[in-house]
Amino acid sequence: MDNQKKHVAVYTFPYSSHPSLILTLTRRLASAAPNVIFSFFNIEKSNDVLFSNLSCNNILRYDVSDGIPEGYVFKGTPQEDINLFLAVAEEELRKGVQVAEMDTGLKISCLVVDAFFWFCGDMAEEMGIPWVAVWAAGDCSLASHIYTDLIREKSAQLIGSVGPNEEIVDLMPGLKAVRLGDLPSGVVLGNLESPFSTMLHKMGRTLHKATTVTLNSFQELDPNLTTTLSSKLNNFLSVGPFNLISKEKTSLKLDEFSCISWLDNQNTKTIAYISFGTVFTPPPQELVELAKALEETKTPFLWSLKMDSHKHFPKGFVERVTVNGTGKVVPWAPQDQVLNHVAIGVFVTHCGWNSVLESLGAGVPMICRPFLGDQHLNSWMVERVWGIGLRIEGGTFTKHATRRALEQVFSLSNSRHERMEALKDLAHKAIEPNGSSKQNFKTLVEVVTGETQH
Ligand code: UDP
Repeated sequence: MDNQKKHVAVYTFPYSSHPSLILTLTRRLASAAPNVIFSFFNIEKSNDVLFSNLSCNNILRYDVSDGIPEGYVFKGTPQEDINLFLAVAEEELRKGVQVAEMDTGLKISCLVVDAFFWFCGDMAEEMGIPWVAVWAAGDCSLASHIYTDLIREKSAQLIGSVGPNEEIVDLMPGLKAVRLGDLPSGVVLGNLESPFSTMLHKMGRTLHKATTVTLNSFQELDPNLTTTLSSKLNNFLSVGPFNLISKEKTSLKLDEFSCISWLDNQNTKTIAYISFGTVFTPPPQELVELAKALEETKTPFLWSLKMDSHKHFPKGFVERVTVNGTGKVVPWAPQDQVLNHVAIGVFVTHCGWNSVLESLGAGVPMICRPFLGDQHLNSWMVERVWGIGLRIEGGTFTKHATRRALEQVFSLSNSRHERMEALKDLAHKAIEPNGSSKQNFKTLVEVVTGETQH
């Protein structure tokens, strides 16, 4: 193989915010290693969005099948699209690698893949190349999967005596306390046998074999979790927060609906920004309760909500708030820029990992309404470990709980604000030239390219 030209295969889980996160990492790698070719594998629908506005000479787009048979009629079972994809994921990568090697005339020299794809460990071993696993969420949820067997063993002794909402001390290394109900579904509670839970369990058991495990976080955020994960994994590298490093405009970040100019006309720290990420929408009744609470408390807001959910709002809601100037509802907002706007006073969020990091990096307190996956654990960290937000009382939006949460967040104590500023500072320090994330990224580039960085 030509020493100058390395060829890296990148493979993303194709749903939620994984593709955009893994492409962001790929772009950073591609710019740090311009001689290396990165073949990026993803399903067509997601690649169409990601690559609509991207031109990068050393990133090649490859579409893989989403596993949905032609003419397939969805039955409406949980995670149906995900399960169909998972059934073909390994085979699709194996086929894709052959095509990319033929196209470029270069053998793959490293696999940079979504950590979900535990089977890549075997592939990398067969190919005799490094396996770089990218965890697309936070340290806390990663630890819950790495320690699933231990957590199951310990919690089996407590079953019957401890409810899902009771705090358990020392259940999981790296966390002083946690509640069973906050662990991702499939660790202890929920369907432990679903294809998704099985995949995560296998991942947790296999990741110690990866050459490197990397994630969008910074090690000062949770020194205890970083220490425990570093003891279990090879080259555990926090290389974020990505949003503070990668300020390039991608197609996803355009301000198509003029959110920033609207915020420019609002008072400092008065606006509630509301978004539940790329996948989730609260049930209709909760949308109604949240909307009513905003109107009744006269809280000005910017709300990113998919168009097809607007029909659930109380009658005339959007028209009223638009006319009196107290609110703006958009199908998409440039979230990172929004959170960094001086007008934002609070973020009402589902606690997806990227949203949490973006809020933390902007020093904006959160009102958390987690739905599933890692979101409950992230909101536990926000409220109980970092003290930079609170969970909605009772777990769902009611008018009363939302009103209370808004009142509490808009009158946070000085010590809470200081805590937020301190974490924001640590996030920004991590990406300075000598910061931990910058140094870790250098190591990552060395693993991926097989070359020493200077
Ligand atoms: N996002 C955005 N504008 C929106 C909604 C979401 O830019 O209107 C971005 C947000 O900044 C974040 C990502 O989409 O980077 C959502 O990721 P997260 O991990 O928070 O949630 P997920 O979509 O995976 O549930």
